[in-house]
Amino acid sequence: LLQLFRPLDLLGFVYRTIRQGLVDMAEMFRLMDTAIEVEDAPGAPALVIRKPTVAFDNVVFGYEPDRTILHGLSFEVPAGDNIAIVGPSGAGKSTIARLLFRFYDPWSGRILIDGQDIAAVQQDTVRAAIGIVPQDSVLFNETIGYNIAYGKGGTDEQTMLAAARDAAILPFIEQLPKGFDTEVGERGLKLSGGEKQRVAIARTLVKNPPILMLDEATSALDSRTEQDILATLDRISRDRTTLSIAHRLSTVADADDIIVLDQGQLAERGTHAALLKHDGLYAEMWARQQSEREE
Ligand code: ATP
Repeated sequence: LLQLFRPLDLLGFVYRTIRQGLVDMAEMFRLMDTAIEVEDAPGAPALVIRKPTVAFDNVVFGYEPDRTILHGLSFEVPAGDNIAIVGPSGAGKSTIARLLFRFYDPWSGRILIDGQDIAAVQQDTVRAAIGIVPQDSVLFNETIGYNIAYGKGGTDEQTMLAAARDAAILPFIEQLPKGFDTEVGERGLKLSGGEKQRVAIARTLVKNPPILMLDEATSALDSRTEQDILATLDRISRDRTTLSIAHRLSTVADADDIIVLDQGQLAERGTHAALLKHDGLYAEMWARQQSEREE
């Protein structure tokens, strides 16, 4: 019976989350895998953010009872900083993102935003505070305006224009005969990978989240488009606390600080220069990547 109901539960969860405009559908499925819905404690207060600090405090977590993925992970991100999370494949980088978005609760330890345990506040208010820019964005077969605004219901035109401008997609939209009312997707205008990514960034900006979680683009953008998108992401992350999950290292050199994760543990932390000097795992990963590039 449980087997039968689980998928239904999951669908309800997906539907509610999409309706709340929290993340887009592809990202939803990617992040969730088989996420179980977490429950708010009765009478849980709203998250109130004055300074968007993020902290993991001795977090232990696994997806299955007999396999621990994060082994007592602790780190702090000061408000407004841009932190890159790197590490070998399977180290637990995306797991950090899933926990921060509260798709799961830790087995022990706490995750704090501005000093408040995210497991003790209303989960909607946690998710409203975090903007995710996913690797690959999927758009609805709807108008560009709809695709941008569903980041937040009842978005006014000013907000939408500002978001499109900040995502550097406004000039593109304005030269279309139907502007924001242009249908995109299967029956409408086909957008390039870079344009899609910009619509997704605009969608995130509509939420005006104090915390950003960037999942490095792995979709095949040409390198010039990728550089342009990175410049946009850099600009929008300036006034926000940003965690960037980097599956490659090429984009992390400018981060305020780099967290190096290895098998669910914090292996190293520091700036690009300091970590190279330290000559540990990061330096090794960097050297390997440089030589791969040369080849
Ligand atoms: P990559 O750079 O390859 O994307 P990552 O560092 O982001 O890797 P995670 O996705 O956080 O790694 O995964 C960490 C570990 O957790 C992996 O060993 C993975 O197999 C496991 N894992 C991830 N999602 C689940 C899940 N839904 N159920 C069970 N195990 C999972």
